[in-house]
Formats: sequence, C-alpha cells, structure tokens
Amino acid sequence: MIQIKPMRSPTTLGLALSLTIFVISCTNIQNQEVPSTLLIENVILIDGTGSNRQITDVRIVGNQIDTIGNLDPDDEEIIDGTGLILSPGFIDTHSHHDRNLLENPDALALLSQGVTTIIVGQDGGSNLPVVDLKEALWITPSSVNLGSYVGHGTIRREIMGVDYMRPANPNEIEAMGALLSRELKTGAMGFSTGLEYDPGIYSTTSEVISLARITAEHGKRYSSHMRSEDRDLFGAIEEAISIARQTGIPVHISHIKLAMKSLWGRADEVLKLLNMARGEGLQITADLYPYEYWQSTMTVLFPDRLFTREAAEFALEELAPPEGILIDRYEPNPSYEGLTLAQISQIRDADPVTTYLDLIAKSQTAKEAGSGGGESIIGTSMATKDITTLLKWPFTNVASDGSSTSRHPRGYGSFPKIFRKYVRETGDLSLEEAVYKMTGLVKKSLGLKGRGTLEVGSVADMVLFHPDNMADKATQQTPQALSIGVVGVWVNGMRVYEDGMSTGAHPGQWIEG
Ligand SMILES: [Zn+2]
Repeated sequence: MIQIKPMRSPTTLGLALSLTIFVISCTNIQNQEVPSTLLIENVILIDGTGSNRQITDVRIVGNQIDTIGNLDPDDEEIIDGTGLILSPGFIDTHSHHDRNLLENPDALALLSQGVTTIIVGQDGGSNLPVVDLKEALWITPSSVNLGSYVGHGTIRREIMGVDYMRPANPNEIEAMGALLSRELKTGAMGFSTGLEYDPGIYSTTSEVISLARITAEHGKRYSSHMRSEDRDLFGAIEEAISIARQTGIPVHISHIKLAMKSLWGRADEVLKLLNMARGEGLQITADLYPYEYWQSTMTVLFPDRLFTREAAEFALEELAPPEGILIDRYEPNPSYEGLTLAQISQIRDADPVTTYLDLIAKSQTAKEAGSGGGESIIGTSMATKDITTLLKWPFTNVASDGSSTSRHPRGYGSFPKIFRKYVRETGDLSLEEAVYKMTGLVKKSLGLKGRGTLEVGSVADMVLFHPDNMADKATQQTPQALSIGVVGVWVNGMRVYEDGMSTGAHPGQWIEG
C-alpha cells in the first residue's frame, strides 16, 4: 500500500482533529471491513507514460490501482468504460486556484477539466509559513491534492520589509536562506520566484543563486516566473539556465511565452537555448497555458518601474494593444472592470497612453494611501504559432496559471482546450502526447512519487473522459463556463466528480513531491 500523508501538522488543533477523524475512520473501517473496489471495464487506458492506448479493464482497490488486464467482475462497483479514455488525473503545475479553495472545496473548475492535483505558491508568492496552508486544508479539505512552493518574493518582503527596492545585503540573504530552509523542511515542495514582480525584480541573480543552492541542498526544485517574458526574454532564459548550471537544481520555467510582437516567430530560438542547456545535463523544463493572452498587473509592462509616456507607448505598441488589454480588476474605479483600455480611453476621451498612465497613477496613489488600489489586466501578447512550437517541446507540460475567480478563462479551460484545439482541430498532439503533458511528464519534472501515471500500485487519481467532445467552454466573455467531456474524476481512489457535478467528497491530500 502506498502510504498517503494526511493533511496535518503537529499543532494542538490539528492533533485534536486528526484524533477525532482517526476514531471516525476506524469506525467506518469496522463497518466496511474491506476497502471499496471498483472495476472499470473495457476502457481505453492512456497510462500517462506516453505509451500507446490499450483497451483493458482496471480495478481500483481503496486508494490505488490494483490490477490492469482482462478481469472478471467480482462483487464490486462496475463502470462500463466503452469508448471512454481513462488516464491519470491531470496535474496543474502552475495554479492560483488556492485563492478560494477553502471557501469552495469542491473545486468544480478543476474537476470539470479532469485536474486532480494543483501546485500553488507560484510567481514568488506563497503562504508564509506554508504549513499554515497545509493546516487549513487539513481542517477544510478539498476535492483535489495540493502542493506549494515557498515564494522568494514572500520571503524577501518578510526580511526586507518596505525597503526592498534594492539588492539584498549578505546578512539579508542569509536570513532569507534560514527562512527558506525552515519552509522546505516543513512542507514546501520547492522554491518559486517572480522576478518580473515586486519585490523579486530588485534581486540580483546571485541572490537567487544563493537561495536556489539551499533549495538544491534540500533535494527540492526551482520554479520561475522569469525576469522578462518580452523585452529581455533571452536574457531571462540565460539567467534561468545559469541558475541551473551553478546550483545543479532542476529549473522549471513557468508559463513559457514570447510576449512581444517583435519576438513572434522566434520560439525555435528559445528552444534551441533550452535544448543546449539540457545537452549539458541541466534539468530544464517548462509549463505553458494555451492562450494568446496573459493576466498580470498593469505595472508588469514597465520593467524599470518608470511610468513615462515613452515606456507606455512602447508597451501599447509592442506588448499589448489597447483593444487587447482587458481590465479584470480595478479598485479605484470598479466600473472599468470588464472593459478594454481602448473602451476606457473612448469613455474618457483621451488617448490610450494617457489613459493607461493615469490608471496606474491612481492605483499607486490609492495603494500608498492604504486605500485599495488593487488592479489586474488581461493582455493579448502572444502568437498562436509560438504557443504551438513551445507546447510541442518534449519538456513542456500543460498548466493553467489560473484561478476560479478571474476573468481569464484559463482557470476553467486550459486542459480540455488542449484536447479540443491541439489534438482534434490541428492534430499537433496525439491523445497520448496530450495526456503525457498533463501527467507523466509532470511526474518526472516535479519528481512526484506514486502519481502521474496509471500503473499497478499507483495512487488512483484518475479521469474518465470522452475523447471526441472533451472541450473548454470558457472564453473572455464567459470565463467561468465549465468544461465538458469529463465523465468521472477520482482522487485518492474516491469519486469526486460525476455527471457534471461534485460528489461532495474531499479526499485531496497535501503533497510534497
Ligand atoms: Zn507568473
């Protein structure tokens, strides 16, 4: 039996709760005496290793895959899998779905896509301590498994406070390292950076290397929203490679993209650099969400944080056009939410550059006054051809970068969109390749044990779906439309999704690798 670590931490409350649940589960075991068994018959198994599909029967006993082959039904639950695909549950390596998981533990946005595990704490931002999240999920479990990185930005802010707009000194780096070590020992699965964001943007490469080295000493991983995805994309890739080279740590590039018009068509050059690094023996991998538009802050388009007309003109010309910038959130004037920058400019009877700079200024003034100022935008910056090239790289897995509350459809559609668009419409990926990029490849890239492939003995995180109509329905106009085509989802052997609905089961576990 694979031992699954319960979501628990050694606090008094946690211990009291775990004791209560232990007593309850012992009672259940006494009543049931044997673990539940399920037989899925005549199903098309795609096991996540990249191997070809096979039609077979799969028996699940308790929380794991017990047998695969030509099986006779026993006294057990039986599902006819004829014409359906059974694969490992999809693993989202870059998720922000923890934002309302405690309020919404069914996580339908994820289950309707076949996602059974999410990795959070991305872009340099995490809970601190991470164990707080682990404990919260122990008290209020969810339908999906969850693991978290510890964020560089979070640690940096903790040590440097408001005085973060400069390189850290050696004492501060040492203090960050101590905090990082504590987090890696107590539940974090690795270290993430957001080098395009405050406060990570002010760090030097050597600061990141010091911290990545500590992470490597703990046998854990590094995930990075790189320093640039547009103006200095190639410099940012070189930085990520040099961090791998100098520390030996596996480096995972978050949501890889070419987010600048004059870079479009150069995805092959990006892959050439990454392949050369892999040729040196460096473990470089990446994830990607299949959309031409991102979601971030208004200020991310200004890497120097100098909000000049010249920089704004460049941003709106090269990075995202006014009609391609959709306001998701704007606390200083919520009536702008859902409008494009072009539309707001028209309302204000001002040019887009003036409008954009004014929106940033108002948000910053509000932030400084401590009265809101929160904002986020969706920016259209990528070319489909580059997305396809990057997606087809053998070391790129699928991720969402999404949440269940934003205006970006990726939180509801990333995984089914791959099947609709890249498997059925363009044929760029086979079904087996698509599944591999959501499961077995992630197992390798993140060093997961027991999950990510369906073999005898692996944990029964599974998705059963229609190969011909698995599709996303979420768009910018309907960002929270559920995907279709998933028939059933199991997490740790327990069915969590059936007939388009949650079963109400919350068997998700905390994972650390
Ligand atoms: Zn990011």
